[in-house]
Amino acid sequence: MAYDPQNIFARILRGEIPAAKVLETDHALAFLDVGPVNKGHLLVIPKAEAATLSDLPDEAAAHVGALLPRLCRAVRAATGADALNIVVNHGEAAGQTVHHVHWHIIPRFPGDAVRWPWPHQSYADDEMEQMRSRIARALDAPESSS
Ligand code: AMP
Repeated sequence: MAYDPQNIFARILRGEIPAAKVLETDHALAFLDVGPVNKGHLLVIPKAEAATLSDLPDEAAAHVGALLPRLCRAVRAATGADALNIVVNHGEAAGQTVHHVHWHIIPRFPGDAVRWPWPHQSYADDEMEQMRSRIARALDAPESSS
C-alpha cells in the first residue's frame, strides 16, 4: 500500500496532533493507545514512512525491536500486568486501521475481556512441505531482500 502522509501517526510524528508520549528516540516514538484494550496499552512506531512491516527498512525495524524489551518491562511495572501481547496488525484483513506500521504492547490480566486463543487449522498430506518450500523460495527472491 502506498504511504499516506496524512495518516494519524504521521500527524503525531509531525506534532500536528497530540499523543501521550512515553519514549522518543531519533528513529521511533512510543505513546499510549487512545482506545486501549487494557489501560497502559502502548503503540511503538518507527519515524520512517512505512505503511506496513513489509515496507520497513531492516535498520528501522531493528531499532524498534531493540526498544521493545525495555518498553515491555515498563508497561509491566506500571500496570502490574504479568502478561503482555505484542502485536503487529499487517494489512486491513489482519485488522490494521492506521497505515503507518506500529507495534501494540498490550498488558493482559487473568480473566480480562480479550478473547484468546485464535482458531488453528491443520495441514493435510504434503501441504506443510509445499508451504515451507514456497516461503523458503520467496525468501531467496530479490524483492524479499530489498
Ligand atoms: P491497528 O488496528 O493495528 O491499526 O491499531 C490502530 C490503533 O491506533 C488502535 O488501537 C487505535 O485505538 C489507535 N489510535 C488511533 N488514533 C490514535 C491516536 N490519535 N492516538 C493514539 N492511538 C490512536
